[in-house]
Amino acid sequence: MKKTDNCNTCQISLVEEGSVRFPCPKCGEAIGRCQACRVLGNLYECQCGFVGP
Ligand SMILES: [Zn+2]
Ligand SMILES: [Zn+2]
Repeated sequence: MKKTDNCNTCQISLVEEGSVRFPCPKCGEAIGRCQACRVLGNLYECQCGFVGP
């Protein structure tokens, strides 16, 4: 089972403090976001097509 250890947006490893993992609101798939993308407000796109802030 693959863990979500990379940012969904920029693919960086989620090792920094402040990075988060959460389930997709639509399909429940694990999504990871790094602190940089959170600060920048980069959108993420789930494999199901869901796009969120
Ligand atoms: Zn990122
Ligand atoms: Zn999804």
